[in-house]
Amino acid sequence: MMAQYLALKAEAEDCLLFYRMGDFFELFFDDARTAAQVLDIALTSRGEHAGAPIPMCGVPVHSAESYLARLIKAGCRVAIAEQVETPEEAKKRGGSKALVARDIVRFVTAGTLTEEALLEPRRANVLAAVCEVRGQVGIAACDISTGRMELEECTPERMGAALARLGASELVCPDGWEAAPLDGIARPLREFQSDGGQERLCLIHGVATLDGFGAFSRAMLAAASGLIAYLDHVGRGRLPLLLPPVARSTGAHLAMDEATRTSLEILEASGGGRRGSLCEAVDRCVTGAGARQLAEDLSAPLTDVAMISARLDLVQWLHDEVMLRGDLRAVLRALPDVGRALGRIVAGRGSPRDLGQLRDGLSEARRMRDYLLRREDRPGLLDALLPHLGGHGALVDHFSRALVPSPPTERAQGGYIAAGYDHGLDALRETAGNARRAIAALEAKYRDETGVAALKIRHNGVLGYFIEVPAKHGDRLMAPDSGFTHRQTMAGAVRFNALALHEEASRIGEAGGHALAAEEAHFEQLVAEAVASAGAIAGTAAALARIDVAAGLAERAAEGLWCRPEVVDEARIAVTGGRHPVVEAALSAKGERFVANDCALAPEDRLWLIGGPNMGGKSTFLRQNALIVLLAQAGSFVPAERATVGLVDRLFSRVGASDNLARGRSTFMVEMVETAAILSQATDRSFVILDEVGRGTSTYDGLALAWAVAEAVHSLNRCRCLFATHYHELSRLAETCEALSLHHVRAREWKGDLVLLHELAEGPADRSYGLAVARLAGVPAPVLARAKAVLGKLEKGRAETGGLAAGLGELPLFAAALQAEEAEGDALRERLAGLDLDALTPRAALDLLYELKREA
Ligand code: ADP
Repeated sequence: MMAQYLALKAEAEDCLLFYRMGDFFELFFDDARTAAQVLDIALTSRGEHAGAPIPMCGVPVHSAESYLARLIKAGCRVAIAEQVETPEEAKKRGGSKALVARDIVRFVTAGTLTEEALLEPRRANVLAAVCEVRGQVGIAACDISTGRMELEECTPERMGAALARLGASELVCPDGWEAAPLDGIARPLREFQSDGGQERLCLIHGVATLDGFGAFSRAMLAAASGLIAYLDHVGRGRLPLLLPPVARSTGAHLAMDEATRTSLEILEASGGGRRGSLCEAVDRCVTGAGARQLAEDLSAPLTDVAMISARLDLVQWLHDEVMLRGDLRAVLRALPDVGRALGRIVAGRGSPRDLGQLRDGLSEARRMRDYLLRREDRPGLLDALLPHLGGHGALVDHFSRALVPSPPTERAQGGYIAAGYDHGLDALRETAGNARRAIAALEAKYRDETGVAALKIRHNGVLGYFIEVPAKHGDRLMAPDSGFTHRQTMAGAVRFNALALHEEASRIGEAGGHALAAEEAHFEQLVAEAVASAGAIAGTAAALARIDVAAGLAERAAEGLWCRPEVVDEARIAVTGGRHPVVEAALSAKGERFVANDCALAPEDRLWLIGGPNMGGKSTFLRQNALIVLLAQAGSFVPAERATVGLVDRLFSRVGASDNLARGRSTFMVEMVETAAILSQATDRSFVILDEVGRGTSTYDGLALAWAVAEAVHSLNRCRCLFATHYHELSRLAETCEALSLHHVRAREWKGDLVLLHELAEGPADRSYGLAVARLAGVPAPVLARAKAVLGKLEKGRAETGGLAAGLGELPLFAAALQAEEAEGDALRERLAGLDLDALTPRAALDLLYELKREA
């Protein structure tokens, strides 16, 4: 057995091997240690291997799914080895000692789940493959629970942002690739080949060329090939549902890197989980598919005015048509998850219930289409969606005739094919029914004959049908001529068989077996029919999801008095009465009011420097504007009275170090790495929010860096930017940066108490209120008094010497400094150009190098 186990384990590679033994899946060696720890189950041992006891643990087969879910959540992958023959077959094959053959029937990994119980209904589950071909990164991603697949190409620098958008739960990359993401699962390099990818995709979709689906680069196809090879491997040769790939063009989406997504808490709040995230605050979808689509929309806002407007038109229509929206949402709410049911069916793990869900979902979709077709004022996007809602008439009719109203999830007992669909099946069922009635009649007859009123005919898995009487009456049936044969004596009862009973029972068994086989055959046929129209069914599911997203956004807008943003192709942002959806919700839960604020950035006033006390609302203001941009470009209304959003190509959000202490790396280092990314990537179409950047180091360093970063963002990147800082000294930047303006969050001291107004006003902050905030926080009075005395001294010193910012007066303009640097570079270049290298002796060359180095 160990030999068989070890061979399977070698095949399972680094996956935990679930080794089927009777009613348990057993794990051995290190697998057992890992699983016992993750699942918190007992680690035992069994036998010996190489002289040491073999660690072992096991989980019951019937509850394996919940254990699998926990292992997957903990980042494990699992290979399932089933017994692929019965013990009888094994004996026949290899004698009485033969081992039952086992084989890995599938791999369960985070990115390849289809089971309802293992998936989150409101979140897509993405598997991605990534590789590099001639300096370009190819990314292939799919959600096999619904079959969606997309291919993308980007530069190596943008790989991080592209992967961050996908949020894959599993990532595959070529073995030995140096730039591979750390969490990638390494697969053989030969699996990532563009020719292979093209061939496989053509084969899967039955086309001669992929041109009809879009234009795909070699890097995209190589990634696709890696993805499909992995799916092949994991599914043991059976591919899941894959819809035609969609090419994602770079630049079609608002780019956001990982740090920005985390800091804006788009899908997950900083504490982890959906609670407190933007997605939770916006999501009013009534279907899981809608919620998944919304999460995707928020992760990948658009950059095309026409596409954004099309989405907004539909939201607006549903916003204004209150009754219609209510009706639609009621229908949607009752819909099954068609996309995921289809995913299970194609993956070969569908149940009769899944078929029933297709029937119900598709027939409702068609009704919805007919209902919407009656409206004449339909927005364009809806018009484009409607055809996808219909077109399944034949399938729905067929499934309606074939299936009972609510088919079971289990196939083993049958009973899911409707009466009247197959006369042969009906006849078999009738035979079995008659026999069952005959058995009921036998019970009465036997009671009469024996005079035992407590006599019962019962059934169990081991004996089948039998007659049971209480022990004290046992003797009456024992008589040789009684017509009963003894089967079993229990503590309180005796069990018998009788010829007539045996005959009826065999009739049930035989008819039942035939009926099951007939149902099974119908099932396969229905599955094949669903698989044949998988593409069209997935299209219906996607259209329903899109309608749910729009109706949900309309609902959200109506609920929160959000407005339709005007999206324009200019470098501006103008928000009147903007609010932060998450903070507002948190406040209103406490009965407090959110103070709305305006924001107006334009090319001539593109950098706002925002000062004011801690807790004054600076971060909230920065984020709410970033979120308004994000929502607008995702096609949603926004929490404001009025908003004009000029298209943003890249959005960056950075928070000064001390807010993310929990991270592993030196926090200041992280802050600087992230800031560097902005300075190298932000364009004049980007939008950047910087929250207390420079805070993570000493005062002088911090101020100096904040100063230089603000100048660079202003003069080099020239993007729109909100910059929150507590360094007063930065306000002097307004003297030299023409497109920078000063703002602050207002606060007032009233009878010694600090009142935070959370209101944005023009001009620099007048003072820092640090001591007042400290009082608010409960710092004891003697400490406050002492701090006040120290502050007095410091301020006196500052007045005399110019303080922290003393000497900044002589600082040359940033532009001038850059020019000076360039001039130096030019001088060097000129000198180098003038050299005749061939005429230099090695010694002279070395001297020259030393000289240049001294000058630098
Ligand atoms: P800062 O960045 O200036 O330290 P925050 O933006 O973190 O301040 O805000 C601190 C707290 O103040 C928030 O958690 C919120 O409760 C409250 N707050 C912020 N902005 C507003 C607002 N516009 N209206 C009402 N309360 C606000």
